[in-house]
Amino acid sequence: MPKFMPVCEPLLSGNELAYVTDAVSSGWISSSGKYVGAFEEAFAAYCGAKHGIAVCNGTVALHLAMVALGVGPGDEVIIPDFTMMASALAVCYTGAIPVFADADPHTWNISPDAVAAKITSRTKVVMAMHVFGNPCDMKKLQDICDAHGAVLMEDAAEAHGASLGGRRSGSLSRIAGFSFFANKNITCGEGGMVVTDDDGLAQACRYHKNLCFPLDTPRNYMHADIGFNYRMSNIHAAIGLAQTEQGDVLKALRQKHGHLYRERLAAIPGVLLQKDQPDGENVFWMNGLVLTPEYGRSREELIAHLKAQSIDTRLFFNGMHRQPALRKYGCACDGLYPVSDMLADHGFYLSSGSGLSDEDIHRVCDVIDAFKG
Ligand SMILES: *Cc1c(COP(=O)(O)O)cnc(C)c1O
Repeated sequence: MPKFMPVCEPLLSGNELAYVTDAVSSGWISSSGKYVGAFEEAFAAYCGAKHGIAVCNGTVALHLAMVALGVGPGDEVIIPDFTMMASALAVCYTGAIPVFADADPHTWNISPDAVAAKITSRTKVVMAMHVFGNPCDMKKLQDICDAHGAVLMEDAAEAHGASLGGRRSGSLSRIAGFSFFANKNITCGEGGMVVTDDDGLAQACRYHKNLCFPLDTPRNYMHADIGFNYRMSNIHAAIGLAQTEQGDVLKALRQKHGHLYRERLAAIPGVLLQKDQPDGENVFWMNGLVLTPEYGRSREELIAHLKAQSIDTRLFFNGMHRQPALRKYGCACDGLYPVSDMLADHGFYLSSGSGLSDEDIHRVCDVIDAFKG
């Protein structure tokens, strides 16, 4: 039996163990240790932004960003239909209503035309999500937001270090949320960060993430607002700092793998690949593909065949309009989302961790190539 290839494994080959050991042996294991601030500073710098506010996961990073923006009941937030559920849940936590915009058939990112068709005076925020590491068309999205008085933000959970016109994700909009879940390009196991240039928003995030303890007089135990405990521990931040030190190395590995996958898969009939946003730098969080009838076998047949060769895969996300939870919450789910449906019904992704070897990638592509009908 050939070696099992998981969809994603973290690559922890820098100072992770040394920093965690330091955190534990010093006794600083809560959110008060030195690694939290050091990680925030290093990661904000990595994004080319002024502030980083560490939190315990990416979902709450998005929620906290919207709390800071003042999103609440009565507001609408336009999100991609083709995204991970966390983008929508973060909106629901504020009491606002998520409104879905279909994907672009080439980049698989939120389509600016679809956003223009859905934006109204109730739209407070438009959330761009850089799908699989491919930056969105931020210029067009910003113009649409400006024309309607909406704020553009990023769900940058899949796009650490991705750039557009020389600026990195996290600094492409007013405020951004990142995830550091174990499969992301930079990880700390479980973690997240809000990134922004805006001093006021950063302060609002720091306030709300820590139970709304007053920022200047925390020890008087008086709370003027409903806050959240979204703090990150020093142990997680220790891993995150070490990963950020390796950020460019990890990114280069993901890109090398992504380009090799593309070159091999583009030569196979019936395989449709994501197209880069012009002027954008893709960081290839996940290497996805969509099967068309020309391949001659169904997606389910191919996935089962890969599984039999010990190669793991994952289906693409199901679109937000298909989610029973969001229909129950009151979202308008009956519209047409043909691109999101096409991706959900025919797409899946392949082993994409930073630690892959070229031989691993060739093996996966050889199996896909040999199996075509
Ligand atoms: C991973 C991810 C998140 C949030 O992740 P957490 O598991 O909460 O850290 C949010 N949005 C997208 C698009 C993601 O891929």
